[in-house]
Amino acid sequence: MIRFDVLTIFPELLESPLNFSVIKKAREKGLINICSHNIRNWAQDKHRMTDDAPFGGGCGMVMKVEPVDRAVKEVKKRAAEDSCVILMSPQGETFNQQIAAELAEKKQIIIICGRYEGVDERIRTSLADREISLGDYVLTGGELSALVLIDAVSRLVPGVLGNAESKESESFACGLLEYPQYTRPAQYNGLAVPDVLVSGNHAEIEHWRRKESLRRTYQRRPDLLKKIKLSASDKKTLEQIKKEET
Ligand code: SAM
Repeated sequence: MIRFDVLTIFPELLESPLNFSVIKKAREKGLINICSHNIRNWAQDKHRMTDDAPFGGGCGMVMKVEPVDRAVKEVKKRAAEDSCVILMSPQGETFNQQIAAELAEKKQIIIICGRYEGVDERIRTSLADREISLGDYVLTGGELSALVLIDAVSRLVPGVLGNAESKESESFACGLLEYPQYTRPAQYNGLAVPDVLVSGNHAEIEHWRRKESLRRTYQRRPDLLKKIKLSASDKKTLEQIKKEET
């Protein structure tokens, strides 16, 4: 079971996407526990301020360190050891399947969502274990990126997805993109499903899927092929694909 604690000034923003389908069922089964917390609850001044003007001047507001510090300390107490505090930030390491797999091993993930111009640097340096970005663009806040992270990590928790095999063959799990998928009807507007998939020959289907997975990766993400160790048979298939593609 993983516990996610999301620290945000807009907890309502997180509710709906976490109450549907796979994630909703995983919560109901007690496989994941997601708690969102309003950082304002840990602000102690009269106006319960969570942000202030930047030292040195400039536009916008910066999220204050004290409420976030208190919030992190308190939510840490609510779970067993092995927690990881993540600051969502466009300046962090880019999120990917490998990071999702590492996080799926944790007992507690505390996510800090920034807003405005960002967060006081001391949140990054003294509270966060990891700084994670969703990509090279700037969002208005960390909540949407937190939802993406929770979704990608949760589906790797044992029991969350019905069929364990689907995780193993899907894109990135083994370093390749997934093969093309089809479902009924076998013919649609003159577009036919590959014969092999309706042949019932499981060995040939497996071979076709591996080949198409290699082809997809070669066509769309050749960079991934450089990072994985291919078997002798995969190397042979890849040579064949290269010839077919020229
Ligand atoms: N001024 C900051 C900068 O230039 O790096 C950007 C602040 S952004 C407007 C406000 C908050 O949105 C950030 O603190 C972060 O929590 C979140 N955020 C924005 N872009 C993100 C991204 N690509 N990945 C993850 N979080 C992001």
